[in-house]
Amino acid sequence: MSRSISILGATGSVGASTLDLIRRQRHEWRVVALTAHSQAVELARLAREFDAELAVVADEACLPALREALAGTGIAAAAGPAALVEAAARGADLTLAAIVGCAGLAPTMAAIEQGGTVALANKEALVSAGEVMIAAVDRHGATLLPVDSEHNAIFQCLAGNDIADVRWITLTASGGPFRGWSPERLRAATPQQAVQHPNWSMGAKISVDSATMMNKGLELIEAHHLFPVGSQRLRIVVHPQSVIHSLVEFRDGSTLAQLGPADMRVPIASALAWPRRIDTPCTPLDLPAIGQLSFEAPDEDRFPATRLAREAVEQGGAAPAVLNAANEVAVAAFLAGQIAFTQIAGSVARTLDGDLPRAPASLDDVLAVDALARVRAATLLEPA
Ligand code: NAD
Ligand code: MG
Repeated sequence: MSRSISILGATGSVGASTLDLIRRQRHEWRVVALTAHSQAVELARLAREFDAELAVVADEACLPALREALAGTGIAAAAGPAALVEAAARGADLTLAAIVGCAGLAPTMAAIEQGGTVALANKEALVSAGEVMIAAVDRHGATLLPVDSEHNAIFQCLAGNDIADVRWITLTASGGPFRGWSPERLRAATPQQAVQHPNWSMGAKISVDSATMMNKGLELIEAHHLFPVGSQRLRIVVHPQSVIHSLVEFRDGSTLAQLGPADMRVPIASALAWPRRIDTPCTPLDLPAIGQLSFEAPDEDRFPATRLAREAVEQGGAAPAVLNAANEVAVAAFLAGQIAFTQIAGSVARTLDGDLPRAPASLDDVLAVDALARVRAATLLEPA
């Protein structure tokens, strides 16, 4: 019997990895909706290949191109933020939430409200909406499966265990492309250097987040919501080989870890097949070839983003949504050459300074906090 799937962010890095796995067991899946921001031609190509019911572009200006590319196929085409939400609300057995940024929040919430299974890669949505999203999951009886490799690792380590027995959850971080760089070198780091991740191939935004370590900060907040052990029990360790994807230590002193190749198809496969397993084409771990695994404490002087995220999670309320929005604005400005690499964290810190909006209690509240924080962050950017 086939299962239905929708992929929000089908043209991205996670979207491509997901479709690669779907392609290998084509008869097992029926594709409902595929979405993209503006890559109409690529989206249409995927919609044709996977015989999707519906293709949606977020950018309305791209609708004519999408329509033209889908002419005669019978595949429906739509555009705009409301169409994205409607696509997610069509309901599928599994929805892969792989849009980047808070732009993915509303469609992800729409999928959750259908009460199905949502495989979540879009960490910014959970960071911003935190309590609101988890409450919606509970209210609608949805299942949230973490796709982010660390959270998928933790999820696997927790299987069959009681979360009350957890002593520590340790998120591993590669340290990114600038691990070990001096403050002077960091100040001059270019967007091109920042997107060259040593271990993972990913979209531009998360690659920059890995370079600043904000990715690990966002993941700390993500873990706080997915695994309610209390933020004091969440730790970060730098592990440059990216072989161990995270660890859980229990009260008896046992530590479980999940290891695997640095290939997103492993955690995605785990979410697609959960609670079962499927084959992946990933190169198996070759431990003798890897030789050594090493660990070091994060350096929060050179990479202050994890400290900012920890402060935001402890402050709670609107702080994580403000942190995320400010970071999205700062990363976009860095990628556009408007600010220096080392100004990203500073601009996030300044946006968080002072009075914050009250704690969001609904999706609309979160979107309002996000919009407000973006305006504030934009005014606080300093020229490079
Ligand atoms: P990407 O930039 O490669 O792809 C993003 C996708 O979202 C594309 O399909 C794009 O068209 C779409 N999109 C972008 N802006 C949009 C908007 N405003 N409205 C609607 N759609 C929009 O990103 P990615 O690397 O695949 O990451 C996707 C998400 O998964 C991010 O939240 C990221 O943090 C998370 N994630 C990625 C990886 C990875 O290895 N790439 C690992 C863990 C988590
Ligand atoms: Mg991750």
